[in-house]
Amino acid sequence: MKLSDDIKYLKGVGPKRAEIFAKMDIHTIRDLLYHLPRSYIDFSSPVTIEDATLDEQNLLKCRCSEKRSYQYTRRGMQIFQLMFTDGSDDIFVTLFNQGYLYDKIRVGEDYFLLGKVTGTLTERVMNGPQIVEVLQAEKLRPVYPLTEGMTENILRNCMKNALTCLDNETCEVMPSEIIERAGLMRTDDALKYIHFPRTQSDVVPARKRLAFDELTTLQLGMLSLKDRNRTLTPYVMKSFPMDEFYRSLPFEPTGAQRRAIGECISDMARNVPMNRLIMGDVGSGKTVVAAACCYLSHLNGTQSCLMAPTEVLADQHAETLSRFLEPLGVKVALLKGSMSTKDKNRVRKGLASGEYSVAVGTHALFQKATEFSNLALVITDEQHRFGVNQRDALAEKGVNPHRLVMSATPIPRTLALMIYGELDISTLNEMPKGRLKIETYAVTGKLRTRAYNFTKKYLDEGRQAYIICPAIDEEEGMQSVLEYAERIRSADFAGYTVGVLHGKMKPAEKEQVMTDFKDGKIQVLVSTTVVEVGVDVPNAAVMLIENADRFGLSQLHQLRGRVGRGEHQSYCILITDNVTETSKKRLKALSSTSDGFEISELDLQLRGPGDFFGNRQHGLPSFKIADIAADTDILKLARESAEEIYASGYLEMEEGKGLKANVEKLWEEAN
Ligand code: ADP
Ligand code: MG
Repeated sequence: MKLSDDIKYLKGVGPKRAEIFAKMDIHTIRDLLYHLPRSYIDFSSPVTIEDATLDEQNLLKCRCSEKRSYQYTRRGMQIFQLMFTDGSDDIFVTLFNQGYLYDKIRVGEDYFLLGKVTGTLTERVMNGPQIVEVLQAEKLRPVYPLTEGMTENILRNCMKNALTCLDNETCEVMPSEIIERAGLMRTDDALKYIHFPRTQSDVVPARKRLAFDELTTLQLGMLSLKDRNRTLTPYVMKSFPMDEFYRSLPFEPTGAQRRAIGECISDMARNVPMNRLIMGDVGSGKTVVAAACCYLSHLNGTQSCLMAPTEVLADQHAETLSRFLEPLGVKVALLKGSMSTKDKNRVRKGLASGEYSVAVGTHALFQKATEFSNLALVITDEQHRFGVNQRDALAEKGVNPHRLVMSATPIPRTLALMIYGELDISTLNEMPKGRLKIETYAVTGKLRTRAYNFTKKYLDEGRQAYIICPAIDEEEGMQSVLEYAERIRSADFAGYTVGVLHGKMKPAEKEQVMTDFKDGKIQVLVSTTVVEVGVDVPNAAVMLIENADRFGLSQLHQLRGRVGRGEHQSYCILITDNVTETSKKRLKALSSTSDGFEISELDLQLRGPGDFFGNRQHGLPSFKIADIAADTDILKLARESAEEIYASGYLEMEEGKGLKANVEKLWEEAN
């Protein structure tokens, strides 16, 4: 049998089970081999019945002392009762509808029982445990993600059969020198051990090897992408001094801004398209960098565009760019979905004729109807909100345009290399001078009234406030935001104007609310995280976040960045009733630093990379095995190995075919 064969031909499978496997996204024998255990049951360390923790999952090792006869309930359910003992105590076990298992159990034999132990001080009970004969138990048993109709036993048997295929065909696709030099296990062995480890010490190197494969494959994809970009010819921009631009700004640019602008200018002067990421905290002034690039493009007689994920942001950017650039003679256009057809057509005409040299907008920019006369630079803000396809659609409107991506989610360097591996990165790690530190406090719900009074004090001074309610989805968000606003309007914030903002509102409605808030017509804005992205209201001085522990640190930091954007001292109040150590540690970290890069490092350590990836839903495959927070050493090795493999031309060789196919498959899945 071949690894690429349909799973239904594997011994023990057949068409029926193949359908169940299909539901688990397992179609071939190779797919099955890469269906990895979620965790392991360690049979080497059972506890005694006496020591078992009540109301928790425990592994017991005990002897069956009695099989009581079974009974039927009125609803036709079979209930089987058994007694087990291990010398320390007895335990009463109940099985439901598992006559087959019941029949197999023999009095006097030893078994492992895995399940939740309940009962009273005097009587221990286990309902429906997993029961494994001690004689048959391996030391470690993998636990797999399953679906209805699939059991651990069936899966394990099929896995055993699938592994025999490795006797004739290998899953190894990496060059052996690299594997040997790095002291890694062979892939085939790794697969064997990950599914059937003898001890925990088999699992570690097996995991490491599979994580290495996963990360290296991803990195190879990044490198090919980077290279593909290198073969394209963009509009090569002549460099101009930026003095005039800097002079026209209402403030002194930071060193980091000057550096990033310099990097962009020299990128765009080369004969390969720029592909750069500007990563900087909220408020670090990324828009200035974008404006400078647009200005350079204008000086070169070409067009540029800046795409924002929401209309509010597009408005804001259009306003800012006009303010910076129009005095320099640059015409800036705004194009967004909610504009009338007439207005859109007018703007589109101006873009096609070259009347405008800068276009700011939302997705309306990359619709078919939009044409540019000579688009040479494409900038996307908060790019994780856009799909790769959308970005490509926009890039196709120009001839191999330079690309600049702006992200307000500072992430640790290791992670940045991983997920933005195809981009060059500039970091804005310096805040504009004179920014006041946002005072951050974490309190429990008991102090809510005090937090409200604190907020009102600033409202009375003329400031504004945000209140954020977390939500799992837009539906829930709408509910909680509306209820919350209703509650505070009629009680604590009676007499103040309270507005609401949530994801279920129509774009035009959201727009209206944001405009009212900006204009000061709304004093308190109760919102879901839709407010998170880049909105700038300098008069807002208080950010109150309910259920703060439901957010990742980086996300809290982003929300906090909505205040402190003007000259007023600002405050962030985090309300949470979760007082676990981790939660306390997280919130304390947030109170003690305002450096987004530092916070992201911590977030990564405390919560893992899920948050970051959750944000960037598009364009990145999910990892089956690699844990980027824990695997930074493997990550480094993978990056170096990928570079070496790529440079050696291995992917184009006969023996590199398997790896090349894996790289292509991974990127197909991602996009
Ligand atoms: P972000 O990086 O979050 O997109 P913005 O570009 O929106 O930040 O800038 C945030 C605010 O800081 C804006 O009001 C902008 O005008 C201002 N700003 C940007 N750079 C500087 C600077 N060097 N000095 C003072 N203020 C600045
Ligand atoms: Mg911004």
